[in-house]
Amino acid sequence: MERAVVLDGRALAVKIKKSLKQELISLKQKGVIPSVVAIQVGKDAASYVYLKQQKKSCEEIGITYELKELPQNISEKDLLKEIEKINSDTKVTGIILQMPLPKALDARKIQIAIAPRKDIEGVHPYNMGMLVYGTSKIAPPTAEAAIELLKSSGVELKGKEVTIVGRSAIVGKPIALLLLKNKPTSPTPTICHSVTKDMAFHTKRADILIVAVGKAHLIKGDMIKKGAIVIDVGINPAPEALKRFGKKIVGDVDFDEAKKLASFISPVPGGVGPLTVAMFLRNIVECSKNIDKI
Ligand code: NAP
Repeated sequence: MERAVVLDGRALAVKIKKSLKQELISLKQKGVIPSVVAIQVGKDAASYVYLKQQKKSCEEIGITYELKELPQNISEKDLLKEIEKINSDTKVTGIILQMPLPKALDARKIQIAIAPRKDIEGVHPYNMGMLVYGTSKIAPPTAEAAIELLKSSGVELKGKEVTIVGRSAIVGKPIALLLLKNKPTSPTPTICHSVTKDMAFHTKRADILIVAVGKAHLIKGDMIKKGAIVIDVGINPAPEALKRFGKKIVGDVDFDEAKKLASFISPVPGGVGPLTVAMFLRNIVECSKNIDKI
């Protein structure tokens, strides 16, 4: 029997983009013009599709977007110089560094070179540190999207047991920190990872289960507490999804099993994915407001 309410990330994303569009109009009247530069080093077919979508999403709501394509064999020194130039360009309010970078480059070192005030992906140690302090305005968009979708259920989070599966710096860990941000209404997060001894023990006691691993259907129905809220961040595309499940894309949660038990569930596709784009746009707007402050 189907039970869960499906959390519609697409609809929520449309609503958020509409309000951002309005906010942009009033910001522009005050002379704030958000403008993004995306840096792509070398050619990469998958990145190209992604960047094209980013550009479209930005332009749809009135954000200027420029793609800066740099050669695959660029030296670290020259790339750092390029970033410094963009950092000091007062017209640019946000920077994206498209990953992965060529292996010869130290990705962490390059990422740190981006001015924190222009770090719309929320990956700079300054912004990560602010997240730990609970005072950040910018967090990685996927983590923000998972939280936003969770909140859209309308369920009170205070005191709830949350199990997060996955501890990456851009998804699992920032989700936990965002959940802890508001002291009086915090739930209690637990983080599982590949070395967790008994994952089902943690998932089965979770009022809220958030999964960000990248393993198709890792979470089965018998690992979910009845009535839990399930947020699936995982994206597992073809050919695996097609071969194993006859679908173009599946999440980390076995949706058909989980929806019989959960009270709310996010689908893949149509859940966290579209909201991530909306959160990315929200970060761009936020950075443009704080451009003189850090
Ligand atoms: P990641 O950096 O590869 O991290 C995966 C995490 O899962 C790691 O912490 C890993 O543990 C853990 N893990 C691996 N196997 C596990 C297992 N069997 N049991 C428990 N934990 C396990 O991936 P990510 O960047 O966080 O992304 C996670 C998923 O979210 C991917 O499917 C990705 O495509 C998706 N994603 C979606 C969006 C979106 O917009 N919707 C955006 C970004 C990512 P260890 O730390 O111990 O290795």
